[in-house]
Amino acid sequence: MLDRDELPDAPEHRRGVPQDRHAHLLMPGGLEAIERLLPRADVRKDLLAAGARELALSSGMLALTPDGWFRRWRHHSHVTITCSRPLLEWVVRRAVLGTNANVEVHRARVTGLRGSARRVLGVTVEPCADAGSDAPFPAGHCGHRPADGRPAALDADWVVDASGRGTRVVPWLEALGIHGIAAKDVDSGLANATRVYRTPSGAQEWPLTLIQPDPYSGRPGRSGMIVPIENDRWMVSLGGMRGSEPPSDPDAFLEYALALPSPLVGRLIAAAEPLTEVFTSHSTSNSRRYLDKVRHWPDRFVALGDAAATFNPLYGQGMSVAALGALALAEALADGGLDTPGLARGVQRAAARSVEAAWTTAVSTDVLYPGVEGGTPTAADRLTAAYSRRLTRTATGSYVAASALWDVTTLRTGPARLMRPGAILAALAGPPLPPLSGPPLTDRERAILSAIG
Ligand SMILES: Cc1cc2nc3c(=O)[nH]c(=O)nc-3n(C[C@H](O)[C@H](O)[C@H](O)COP(=O)(O)OP(=O)(O)OC[C@H]3O[C@@H](n4cnc5c(N)ncnc54)[C@H](O)[C@@H]3O)c2cc1C
Repeated sequence: MLDRDELPDAPEHRRGVPQDRHAHLLMPGGLEAIERLLPRADVRKDLLAAGARELALSSGMLALTPDGWFRRWRHHSHVTITCSRPLLEWVVRRAVLGTNANVEVHRARVTGLRGSARRVLGVTVEPCADAGSDAPFPAGHCGHRPADGRPAALDADWVVDASGRGTRVVPWLEALGIHGIAAKDVDSGLANATRVYRTPSGAQEWPLTLIQPDPYSGRPGRSGMIVPIENDRWMVSLGGMRGSEPPSDPDAFLEYALALPSPLVGRLIAAAEPLTEVFTSHSTSNSRRYLDKVRHWPDRFVALGDAAATFNPLYGQGMSVAALGALALAEALADGGLDTPGLARGVQRAAARSVEAAWTTAVSTDVLYPGVEGGTPTAADRLTAAYSRRLTRTATGSYVAASALWDVTTLRTGPARLMRPGAILAALAGPPLPPLSGPPLTDRERAILSAIG
């Protein structure tokens, strides 16, 4: 494995993943994919041992949708883990290295692909500028450091581009003679602002708290969330679309949180002790490269995760889609050998299925916000939005509808789940329980809120 970053042996922020300062929800579908990819490790147990929280969305979440608060059900379903992104990454990396003796990590910057339009044979790499001239160079089958400063060639039986949002996969493929890669960008202009707080005393079991943006109001969406993370901390992320971006000034950060459609997040952090400055991110557009649709695809190469498609992080899908893509690769390799004809193309297409599901969720909603660039709502988007709104309203008072909705938004199943008779009948019938007038707090949570808020 090649990475341009020095990978730390601790859960720490690193330069190559600037987004790790922000809240990262791992959807149950992504967690299950990681567990299937690493059957000899116990990632869930390791995360919990390192201080992560296990939460069932059905009972351990306070969420305000544009159509009211979700109820909390007795069912313990759609279980996930919350922690910081550096902790998640560190635990997964340790599990990969600890259970696969043949994985080595080398520090180098990949600069291109080697091979032809028919088959990728390796990559070109450069040592990282700050690694020092005597830093060990990645040793592949024939990796060597050329004397004249040109990039070194590294042979590979198979290459996976997992270099994230900043990938150069399109020019790299063009250099091999693969042209005509279609791409689409839909940008809501979302900005994220995140600050970490010490969990107020007594609030260690506080639920995951989400104030969702409203795509139907005709105004820029604003959102807020409190994600409980390891070491008794809350990661608080505020989001605002173009024209309503959250501030990086600490006082204005609190005011923004208090002015959300519910002041709950603001009330909870008003007296909490901040542990960091406010970090902002604008890397939030939905960007897709239709690699699965290219006429000719080289053998022995796939692009997964953000290298294939990125999504508005508001929907919390990117890491899960990356894990599901890796699972598609692992399953294809387990089914046939490296020489199976068309294997790489098959994997790229299989990975595109979870990309498509996440893309539909994100883009069909994002196009409804004013100021979105790169997309206008089609008739199909309006129909999807109308159905999804009806189902969400129903889900606030129906576990059947909530469960169907979460199955899809957490990437445990594809969107077809929402078209099953149970979901359609629930949506048609509407919520069997009346809307809640406020967040569904337990007596203990109410007491905590009045003590700290
Ligand atoms: C503000 C924000 C919040 C987010 N919140 C969520 C969330 O709640 N839930 C969720 O699932 N997703 C979230 N995401 C998306 C998530 O961060 C990405 O989808 C996920 O990290 C993609 O994983 P990846 O492995 O494809 O790329 P990355 O995690 O970005 O990793 C890319 C790696 O490639 C290395 N690299 C890059 N270029 C080179 C090169 N040329 N040579 C060698 N190495 C290279 C980098 O150092 C890095 O290690 C969020 C994103 C943002 C911006």
